[in-house]
Amino acid sequence: MPGTEARSPKDTDFIDLSAELGRDPLLIQASGGNTSVKEDGLLWVKASGKELARAHDEPIFVPVDFAGVRAAIDRDESDPATPHVVGSTSLRPSIETTLHALLPHRVVVHVHSVNTLAWTTREDGPARIGEAMDGLAWAWVPYRRPGLPLTRMVQEVLDEDTDILVLQNHGLVIGGDGAGEVDTRLREAERRLLVPPRPTSGPGAGLSASSDESDEYAPAQAAVVHALGTDPDCFRKARGGALYPDHVVFLGPEAPIAERGRSWDEARDDYRARHREPPQYLIVEGEGVLLRRDHNFGVAEMLECQAEVLARVGADVSLRYLTDTEVAELMNWDAETYRKTLNR
Ligand SMILES: [Zn+2]
Repeated sequence: MPGTEARSPKDTDFIDLSAELGRDPLLIQASGGNTSVKEDGLLWVKASGKELARAHDEPIFVPVDFAGVRAAIDRDESDPATPHVVGSTSLRPSIETTLHALLPHRVVVHVHSVNTLAWTTREDGPARIGEAMDGLAWAWVPYRRPGLPLTRMVQEVLDEDTDILVLQNHGLVIGGDGAGEVDTRLREAERRLLVPPRPTSGPGAGLSASSDESDEYAPAQAAVVHALGTDPDCFRKARGGALYPDHVVFLGPEAPIAERGRSWDEARDDYRARHREPPQYLIVEGEGVLLRRDHNFGVAEMLECQAEVLARVGADVSLRYLTDTEVAELMNWDAETYRKTLNR
């Protein structure tokens, strides 16, 4: 098929927007989020495991046959995207490709916006977001696992005028005729949903002097991450469970925690005994967060995201954590293969 040799879409504004979004940690973390453009019968979508921030540096988009994917969704196929990749490539289309195929817009972006997460993980999120988004062409999408379950739910709520989807415990999807229109819509939604973070403190003195305790771990570099240990409400909510899919995919379902008065080595060994591998990080109550020096790809960014979200949620707000069933769905999904792709 013509146009696939370059392995990149022609719309340079779209590529510029993809890279720009990818560089904003309040919108995109690690290889999460994705963008797409429809050109000449092809849907170019970000490949699984690739980072939007690298849109100018390497091929990160994979072309799928748009009509083929739409027909596969209608036929209820278990994998509507991968069989419709055009040309030979080792890249796999994002698990969220069907989201992009369902929206009729030429350009679609999907971001794991920290502001949106701070709203959509609240128990009262649906009502509060309704007030904030009043007047925009938006729809609320109840939580479903990414992939086909989410696709089905989007089909239920989508009507022909919808430009913005707000995904519960997940993020935003925005469609438009071009990169400029999508960018404008995204900025407006972000402006409506903006929540300033409350101030948090950096690592405690005990953590800063930690290198002797264990050379495997070092204090997290991003100051905000330490709020997970030093801010009592962030600590309590971090311990409460996972709030959105990429948290589970990158960090696992259980937060490794060293409670006040317990040695860090003991907390690490206890985690290792139960999970057969040492924790990628350790939240130390009252002190901050230790990160494995050889931590997996995405761990630091996902911890930063978690701290940024929790610093935007008031102490009196109750959160809707992912249920045990929802977490299990994410763990049993092809997340294992997915994670291995990410651990480079
Ligand atoms: Zn997503």
